[in-house]
Amino acid sequence: MTLNTGIDLVYLLAAIGFILALKGLSSPRYARNGNLLAAAAAALAVGFTFARPEVRAHTLNLVLTLVAMVLGSAIAVPAARRVKMTAMPQMVAIFNGVGGGAAALISVVVFVIEAPGQPAVYRIGEVLFGVLVGCVSLSGSAIAFAKLQELMTGRPVTYPGQQVINALVGAAILVLAVSTLLTASVPLLAATAVLSLALGVIFVLPIGGADVPVLISLLNSFTGLAVAASGFTLNNNLLIIAGTLVGASGVLLTRMMSKAMGRSLGNVLFSAFGSVVTAGSGADGTGETRSVRSGTPDDIGVLLAYSRKVVIVPGYGLAVAQAQHTARELADLLMERGVEVFYAIHPVAGRMPGHMNVLLAEANVPYDELKEMDEANPEMATADVALIVGANDTVNPAAKSTPGSPIYGMPIINADEAEHVVFLKRSMRPGFAGIDNELLFDEKTTLLFGDAKDTLGKLVSAVQDA
Ligand code: NDP
Repeated sequence: MTLNTGIDLVYLLAAIGFILALKGLSSPRYARNGNLLAAAAAALAVGFTFARPEVRAHTLNLVLTLVAMVLGSAIAVPAARRVKMTAMPQMVAIFNGVGGGAAALISVVVFVIEAPGQPAVYRIGEVLFGVLVGCVSLSGSAIAFAKLQELMTGRPVTYPGQQVINALVGAAILVLAVSTLLTASVPLLAATAVLSLALGVIFVLPIGGADVPVLISLLNSFTGLAVAASGFTLNNNLLIIAGTLVGASGVLLTRMMSKAMGRSLGNVLFSAFGSVVTAGSGADGTGETRSVRSGTPDDIGVLLAYSRKVVIVPGYGLAVAQAQHTARELADLLMERGVEVFYAIHPVAGRMPGHMNVLLAEANVPYDELKEMDEANPEMATADVALIVGANDTVNPAAKSTPGSPIYGMPIINADEAEHVVFLKRSMRPGFAGIDNELLFDEKTTLLFGDAKDTLGKLVSAVQDA
């Protein structure tokens, strides 16, 4: 067995590791192990790549690679450690973007080396695919990052003739790509790359804030495909497998996210959802005249303490307030008193898939206390209290009752079916979709205004005193 065959076997092991890691990542219980397994498999594959004779033969390249790895780690490790949970989508965007850019660069470099020898059309095709998709992913992710990081407006950016300009850029890329295929010209490939970068920007600009995380998942799958293409270019099976896994899982995640938002992918990408604030909306704090019922921590504490069944519905506000530990403290306290408590998890609660699962896992909430939406909803009608902690869109009954509402058709947690509804939020401001929530005005609803960590803390004291 040659050294390279041995290394290919190691790659096969790593590929199996990636597949098992994805399996682990699909459940909260095994997600941490899945993540560790993926990291170990990647380390194994990268480590053994250095053993390849053709890699060791180029000392300068080896040194440059090691310098790049050290620099990359010096930037990425502290950034990943320090990032706030709510800023995770933009971190994923930027990491994903550089992945796409790296895949595009690999394709360009291989092409520059091979072009004088008039490579076969299929080789040029692989390169073109990697460059086009990688560049779109790089620039698109950069704009998505800027939107989420509030370096630019998060609203959809639209301008006259937008569709026509997009179509012209798309057509120009097609012409350039075909010309590159026929001529193997490096300047034409460079022009394709520049226009692909432009396409990434103009593709992402009209997508609004709330839809950006879905877009990031799609761009993630683009990066996977670009990496798979560079795997073909470099004849590297592991890159092909890993890239395809990322591409496929990105597409699946994108579909699942759109479905959980009750929308088609086309609607997510080509409508201006994130910017919607209903005309004449009062719930955004502008001129609201309808009254709501606000309660005191003591009243609500008594209600909770003497309930039979309480369902906690967490949302984005739980993450903002970092109130997961206090939520668990309250749940534990209620359970000690014999109250049945569980957490109802909406698939797009928060700002990224699995956001609530990760938060609550951080507070060591046992997995069997978490119920996914489909499992939780049949139980909502028998709950005495739905305690909504920083959620809004994901419990908005307009999704069921108001055709024409931007969220109409989105499955929600049926908090409205509980006997009492308690909202913990800071104001009457709407959620991310920017639309009113009638449930706030329902006569069975009580609001407790304030930062969720603070109000949950007060509820803990109130339950203790009840
Ligand atoms: P929402 O964004 O609908 O509502 C969050 C609520 O939390 C707001 O009403 C806000 O009200 C309240 N809030 C914010 N900060 C605090 C705080 N410190 N303490 C207490 N309350 C607070 O959240 P949901 O989780 O219900 O819905 C998620 C939304 O994000 C959906 O529209 C979903 O489609 C979208 N989305 C989710 C993705 C995902 O993957 N999870 C991806 C893309 C989009 P106030 O300001 O008054 O406090």
